Amino acid sequence: MASIFTRIVNGEIPCYKIAEDDRFFAFLDINPMTKGHTLVIPKREVDYIFDLTNDEVADMMVFAKKVAAAVEQAMPCKRIAVAVLGLQVPHAHIHLVPINSENDVDFKHEPLHLSPETFAEIQQKITSKL
Ligand code: 5GP
Repeated sequence: MASIFTRIVNGEIPCYKIAEDDRFFAFLDINPMTKGHTLVIPKREVDYIFDLTNDEVADMMVFAKKVAAAVEQAMPCKRIAVAVLGLQVPHAHIHLVPINSENDVDFKHEPLHLSPETFAEIQQKITSKL
């Protein structure tokens, strides 16, 4: 059965898309730690990031770098934190999280609860910087 992220890539589940190319896809995390929290995934469904090929890992990070630059411009912050956990969704993904302090990237914190309008506004701000 396709992962939830494959279903997002295929348009079967809605998302706030940020960017895509032939191999990678970026979209807003639905349970964001901070505004602009974005996930970058390979379209090829592989559970563990280090089971991707060397080229896929390298090229996914280059794709994430472009997305992170847009997130940083749209969501002023000290840094874009980069995290890989993969404990919930068995489809490799990189978290890009705008942070001003270590507290902003605590996965145990309650996520932000944003309205659809706010998600759409964040999506628009980030995609306008790409
Ligand atoms: P991890 O697997 O790295 O522990 O976490 C998976 C991440 O995917 C979580 O931050 C969670 O909020 C996000 N996530 C899970 N399901 C969906 C979904 O259907 N849509 C979006 N946009 N994000 C999701």
